[in-house]
Amino acid sequence: MREKTLSIIKPDGVSRNLIGEVVKRLESAGIEIAAMKMIWMTKEQAKGFYKVHEGKPFYESVTDFMSSGPSVVMILKGDDVIKRYRKIMGATNYEEAEEGTIRREFATDIEKNVVHGSDSVENAKFEINYFFNSLEILK
Ligand code: GDP
Repeated sequence: MREKTLSIIKPDGVSRNLIGEVVKRLESAGIEIAAMKMIWMTKEQAKGFYKVHEGKPFYESVTDFMSSGPSVVMILKGDDVIKRYRKIMGATNYEEAEEGTIRREFATDIEKNVVHGSDSVENAKFEINYFFNSLEILK
């Protein structure tokens, strides 16, 4: 099924010059980048984005991290792209991520794990609309 998903190259990925590395892996996998921009989230914007994690022990820390510097947000398109991109990213905890995945190769801890990807059609819709307005979303 043709889907869209939201990708973020997190502040650690941007500051460590991994934008090109991530984009190369997406393009090599035949995933279409339908929209892309650099943003710098405020603490409040990061808290809104990770609202599902409100109350968890890492909520303050992850939202500090996500607002600590610029991120690159992208809309990705393709068949089954939500699952395919999550496979390219690897597991949340890089120590458990499969060999060859972005997180396994580049993450430095469970929080600073370089990339984000939506985990369902419903969350992808929310996350895309959180960062992109209708003029920026290509059909
Ligand atoms: P994801 O969908 O694989 O990104 O994972 P989650 O939605 O569960 O978590 C969101 C983000 O919060 C992760 O990508 C990490 O950056 C961070 N995170 C998740 N679990 C932990 C944790 O146990 N400790 C810390 N410090 N950060 C975490």
